[in-house]
Amino acid sequence: MKKLVIFLVIVALVSCKTKVGDKESCKSDLLKKEAFEKEIDGKKTSLYILENANGIKVYITNYGARVVSLLTPDKEGECADIVLGFDNIDSYLKDKMYLGCIVGRYANRINDGKFTIDGQEYNLFLNDGPNTLHGGQKGFDKRVWDARQEGNTLTLSYLSPDGEEGYPGNLQIKKIYTLTDENELKMEYEAETDKTTIVNLSHHSYFNLKGEGDTTILDHYLMADADYFTPVDSTLIPTGEIRPVVNTPFDFTKGKQISQDIGMENEQLKFGLGYDHNWVLNKDSANALTFAVKLWEETTGRVMEIYTTEPAFQFYSGNFMDGSVTGKSGKPYKYRAALAIEPQHFPDSPNHPEFPSTVLRPGEKYRQLSILKFGISE
Ligand code: BGC
Repeated sequence: MKKLVIFLVIVALVSCKTKVGDKESCKSDLLKKEAFEKEIDGKKTSLYILENANGIKVYITNYGARVVSLLTPDKEGECADIVLGFDNIDSYLKDKMYLGCIVGRYANRINDGKFTIDGQEYNLFLNDGPNTLHGGQKGFDKRVWDARQEGNTLTLSYLSPDGEEGYPGNLQIKKIYTLTDENELKMEYEAETDKTTIVNLSHHSYFNLKGEGDTTILDHYLMADADYFTPVDSTLIPTGEIRPVVNTPFDFTKGKQISQDIGMENEQLKFGLGYDHNWVLNKDSANALTFAVKLWEETTGRVMEIYTTEPAFQFYSGNFMDGSVTGKSGKPYKYRAALAIEPQHFPDSPNHPEFPSTVLRPGEKYRQLSILKFGISE
């Protein structure tokens, strides 16, 4: 009888611990604030924590406005960190994958690192073969942002000076992260310039809903509200065509497992080494906040939905990952161990007048709202 009582107490304790939404479920973690405290370019870096009532916890550093960890419970209440990252600032200084950061001043690629505004040509650093990727040599991902935390809102600000990385205009930028009790991580962006410039900002977390580590994302399901995508050339610059996804491996409108078509014989998949493309979101009006993507994984039951005011998103299936980088829990980040979904304007828009404009003029305000919403499938 005594043994039975002890057994029942243990069962009760275990099932209590695994309740979905249990506040305790995401308590234990690896990160130490001290490992993120450093002076870089004369500014202090640190680690900031947002935590909601349902056991979701987000760690952010002001170095590159990066999400370092994102802890969410699964269907059993077991917590996992669903983004790739490092447990110390020094590793981020060497990062070449753009882990968890803001990308800008221009997210994704600019052909030949060149663009023209009002008849004047500007030249950028070529950091991706013949092109400029994610801002250039030292983009917003490598800058130290001023941070102000109020409860579950973290406001990060940065002044990108006129001529930085070749872009015109002093650009004052804010990225505001808010974690809500509705299980949303809201990302608001604002920017203003004193000279006409181009702006395309995005977020670059790598997700694996089973938890960061060495498993692949090929078993994840993805659904996207996008009837078109922008095909690319062999250097991943859009050709200018806006192609229907129907009858192509790029059709995620009904939702499918990522593995389903990724290995198909297809020129676009060959250029990207898999998915590394820009999908055009179905929108009735520009700048409307609409549903973009649903990502889910069956064994954990984790679901993530993305909503955005942006016209498009990049889906990158981790094709350049090769296991040479080891993450915060000591596991190598192997081929396709995570994916990035980046709400954005189309790549290389400054060289494609037919694409939605990324030009920002003095007196105008750049605004973006993108939301990651976390849940559990029924
Ligand atoms: C791009 C990829 C690139 C990755 C990491 C993604 O946004 O689309 O081509 O390899 O970022 O830099």
